[in-house]
Amino acid sequence: MATTERDYYELLGVARDAGEVEIKRAFRKLARELHPDVSDRPDAQDRFREVVEAYEVLSKSETRELYDRYGHAGLRGGGFTPGHFDLGNLSDLFSAFFGDDLFGGSVGRTHARGADIAAEVEIELVEAARGTTRQVPFHVTVPCAHCGGDGAEPGSEIQTCTTCGGAGRLQQVSRSVFGEFVRTQVCPTCRGAGRIPEQLCTECEGAGRAIEERVLDVAIPPGIHDGQRIRLTGEGHAGAEGGRAGDVYVLVRVRPDPRFVREGNDVFSTVDLTMTQAALGATVTVAALEGDEEITLEPGTQPGQVVVLRGRGMPVLQGFGRGDHRVLVNVLMPRHLDDEQRRLLDEFDRRVGEDTYRADEGFFQKLKSAFR
Ligand SMILES: [Zn+2]
Ligand SMILES: [Zn+2]
Repeated sequence: MATTERDYYELLGVARDAGEVEIKRAFRKLARELHPDVSDRPDAQDRFREVVEAYEVLSKSETRELYDRYGHAGLRGGGFTPGHFDLGNLSDLFSAFFGDDLFGGSVGRTHARGADIAAEVEIELVEAARGTTRQVPFHVTVPCAHCGGDGAEPGSEIQTCTTCGGAGRLQQVSRSVFGEFVRTQVCPTCRGAGRIPEQLCTECEGAGRAIEERVLDVAIPPGIHDGQRIRLTGEGHAGAEGGRAGDVYVLVRVRPDPRFVREGNDVFSTVDLTMTQAALGATVTVAALEGDEEITLEPGTQPGQVVVLRGRGMPVLQGFGRGDHRVLVNVLMPRHLDDEQRRLLDEFDRRVGEDTYRADEGFFQKLKSAFR
């Protein structure tokens, strides 16, 4: 049943004697404006459906003639139902118009692409810093070696599939926001091959594919972040009937390193100084991404002070340069003093002058920015 009683020529904004090209052009313009994915108009869906219907009727000479003569009633009398246009054609039309497939589907593709495979690896943060290689095992379907992928026992006859008549596809009417659509699906009998072997391959039982265990060397680039995926094109499952193989997506997990906190490309760590090291200055060893490193702290180093190891953070993934490594200074106070130590500290305290503990004005700012 028609979804609109509005005049199809009016809907497309063309004259009654408009030619094929003009109708196409008008439809293209309107479809672009009204497509529900791009239009903000609240009635975009309904308008789009009307326009598609109008185009459907006016773009074919039989339905256009019927409509010209008898109007909507004539179409109904002629058994016309909107939405039963050839989805393949409309889809092609849209890919020509919009540069992509409007219906996002594999319509018209007989040789189905193989499925993707998900794999996962876990690496250490320091490995993520320098990049590493991991062997990733996974199971993959490959074309059956015995039958070469066509599912037939070598030497047996191959017949045309009677379910789909050899097309490999079946058309199915489905409802969507645009009205009724003819959807194309892979024929379940022949699984899209269009042909059925008289005797199924004894190795793969007609599937044309076999399962193989494979190990891939996966190069993990320096600077990778936890949760990122590496795509290995064409290493996934084999496609049906010689279709393109799928891809492998390797999810990379970066194990947290208890010594470092990573934030973007920067890393943070802390270093403990004793009270006397902080007061007198010291050279200490800190853990860095590329191994231990010595840093020298000036006399009078304050807790909360940050030592920046420039360019010693994580590399920028697929870019240039590296983040920084910021080392936050913690100062340890003595917890247990014996009598002699207490006497010495008392003695020290008696000698404290005006300048000894001069406050650092920027201390609070520094503390705030340490782990920004
Ligand atoms: Zn086989
Ligand atoms: Zn079939």
